Amino acid sequence: MNARSALPFDNSFSRLPEQFFSHQHPSPVSSPELIRINATLALELGIDAQWLRSDEGVQMLAGNALPEHATPIATTYAGHQFGNWNPQLGDGRAILLGEVTSPSNGLRYDIQLKGAGQTPYSRSGDGRSPLGPVLREYIVSEAMNALGIPATRSLAAIITGDNVVRDHLLPGGILTRVAQSHIRIGTFQYFSARQDTASVKILADYVISRHYPEAAQTKNPYQTLLENVISRQAQLIALWQSVGFIHGVMNTDNMLLCGETVDFGPCAFMDTFHPETVYSSIDRNGRYAYNKQAPIARWNLSWLAQSLLPLMAEDEEQAVALAQEALNGFAATYQHAYDAVMCKKLGLNPSSPTSLMLIQNLLDLMNKEQCDFTLCFRFLAENLVPHKEKSSGISDFFHLPAAFNPWIEQWRCQVGKEFSDLGGIQTKLLAVNPAFIPRNHLVEEVIESANTRNDLSPFHSLVDLLEKPFDYHPEHSRYAQPPRPEQVVENTFCGT
Ligand code: AMP
Ligand code: MG
Repeated sequence: MNARSALPFDNSFSRLPEQFFSHQHPSPVSSPELIRINATLALELGIDAQWLRSDEGVQMLAGNALPEHATPIATTYAGHQFGNWNPQLGDGRAILLGEVTSPSNGLRYDIQLKGAGQTPYSRSGDGRSPLGPVLREYIVSEAMNALGIPATRSLAAIITGDNVVRDHLLPGGILTRVAQSHIRIGTFQYFSARQDTASVKILADYVISRHYPEAAQTKNPYQTLLENVISRQAQLIALWQSVGFIHGVMNTDNMLLCGETVDFGPCAFMDTFHPETVYSSIDRNGRYAYNKQAPIARWNLSWLAQSLLPLMAEDEEQAVALAQEALNGFAATYQHAYDAVMCKKLGLNPSSPTSLMLIQNLLDLMNKEQCDFTLCFRFLAENLVPHKEKSSGISDFFHLPAAFNPWIEQWRCQVGKEFSDLGGIQTKLLAVNPAFIPRNHLVEEVIESANTRNDLSPFHSLVDLLEKPFDYHPEHSRYAQPPRPEQVVENTFCGT
């Protein structure tokens, strides 16, 4: 097996005109070692995992050797970061090697090295990544996928053998990120801000053909594109909300047109439910709090709409009206998706007003009682059918306080009205309410042991466990438990 057969690259983005990217080779590192290969993903992508593990494979994943047919590029983009406009961002520490087409679903995927050295867009950055953020992204992105939430994926993690300078010296790492594409709202904004409508059109046509081919057949393909992206994003945010995921850095350059979650910097899953929770150390005003994620997504999408205006209609007023109409669809799509996913977690019928009232009452109770988000839902799933014998679930160590009892009675009654087979519903609930999520204190523990003891076994254990977040085993109860007070992580950091 050689690189050519292991990685059948075909690089459509690099065939776009030169204003979209810069050719950029990764910078070599001194002594790369493989941490992990995602063999399941490799198989899905038609990449030979055995080859990836070989010396040649590891040299490629470290950026020390280029596979045949790679066209390494760094892409350009702009974006609103925490609401502030930055006209020139771009891949400052990520290099796209090329694209492969998955034999399992026929879709095209980017293979990108994150932390592979400086590019023309690095500004004052070193183009590198400490190991910690590489491990965090690997854990969280793969956990999201196992939870059924669209997200970029992690094909491999490498330790470079070189230190990176942050507050202290930290070991360096490289993540191989896989995405349906890395085109961001900020990619559109870059050209739109320069009033380069020709490039906006090239990009929009590219996105349509790669991600929304049906749009090409419609009366107004660019309006359809906008509507489709809005719809995918609204559904994505509803899924985030349903697992208590807080992205933390929802800048317009961190929202992908393909609808996958991207950038796992200061993200976290909520432990105790509180709608205003913020983790990111840089989000001082709570702009990206849990309960702001839907309105912020809409705000970001309004910038995509703005960029597409000249393509949607020649008459500006008409274009604005079409964009407005598409944006107005966000709220309804989001609400519909949110109601559906929350009802699914509770075995309720989303078309019943009682169901929606029950969800709201539950969230109010969880907030008042400072209840763990994940365990609350898992406990309910385990206890839909009252049982006398001792369970072997999270109910071994977690109970909802008595204040929930009237609600639980109402809920059982409502589920019973809709469905006769409660046992069957219970099995379904256990398959959608995870026992395990990448809790922040667990992720920190993994990073700490990698950084200070050079011990990656906690990383592997956590990744293995999170592949099956719905399968509870009592011997893993430690991973299902919320942090003890001294383990609570208040802030997460970008780690750039
Ligand atoms: P992020 O916070 O990861 O969304 O990154 C925001 C911007 O900063 C992007 O243009 C990144 O490429 C760039 N950036 C972040 N960290 C680094 C780094 N260590 N070196 C160079 N550029 C970076
Ligand atoms: Mg980013």
